[in-house]
Amino acid sequence: MDLQGKLVIFSAPSGSGKTTLVHRILERGLNLEFSISATTRSKRPHEVDGKDYYFLSVEDFKKKIQEDAFLEWEEVYENQFYGTLRSEIQRIWNQGRHVIFDIDVAGGVNLKRQFGDRAMALFIKAPSMDVLAQRLSSRGTENEESLKKRLAKAALEMESAQHFDQIIVNDDLETAVNQTYDLLNVFLES
Ligand code: ADP
Ligand code: 5GP
Repeated sequence: MDLQGKLVIFSAPSGSGKTTLVHRILERGLNLEFSISATTRSKRPHEVDGKDYYFLSVEDFKKKIQEDAFLEWEEVYENQFYGTLRSEIQRIWNQGRHVIFDIDVAGGVNLKRQFGDRAMALFIKAPSMDVLAQRLSSRGTENEESLKKRLAKAALEMESAQHFDQIIVNDDLETAVNQTYDLLNVFLES
């Protein structure tokens, strides 16, 4: 394993725009590759297995937990498991690339604890809870119940922002992309 590989962690309450930011950063040509997580949630229409996520059954996911195949995993929502496979990170480091993560707040704190200065942990924040609620509903991926669940979780997750290296307020997208790019450029060159 290439032990020089770094980790760039994007965490945020759902709907803050971290997936959008990660995709925009990946277009900018830094030496970064996306860590494809495993999950038990069902695939959204535009998603591709093996590209956005490795979609697993709950049974297969639990088997991998037993085998210690995960660097970290969380039951992000009831019966919806998400996790980072050790093999995925190894695959990316072996290519001489750094890893970029889109993971939940607890997972981000966990990885930062494990990797210290080799990791830059960014907390992405919507400008307010109202804007967060609007973005989640206009994304069109949530029903009333899952929207409520995500908003309740978001309020708790805000309290963990202090454990991150930087907080990015995602108000104007272009500003947030540029600010993030500049931070990562410095971190990856150091
Ligand atoms: P997350 O990955 O944090 O759950 P997404 O990237 O899916 O969030 O963003 C949630 C929704 O908000 C999406 O519909 C996205 O297009 C939109 N969005 C993201 N960033 C902004 C922004 N700066 N201004 C307005 N809408 C945004
Ligand atoms: P979504 O269902 O919207 O794709 O993701 C829900 C949440 O799970 C998001 O906060 C996302 O970042 C998080 N997530 C995705 N992959 C992982 C992972 O490997 N580990 C953890 N802990 N969270 C993840």
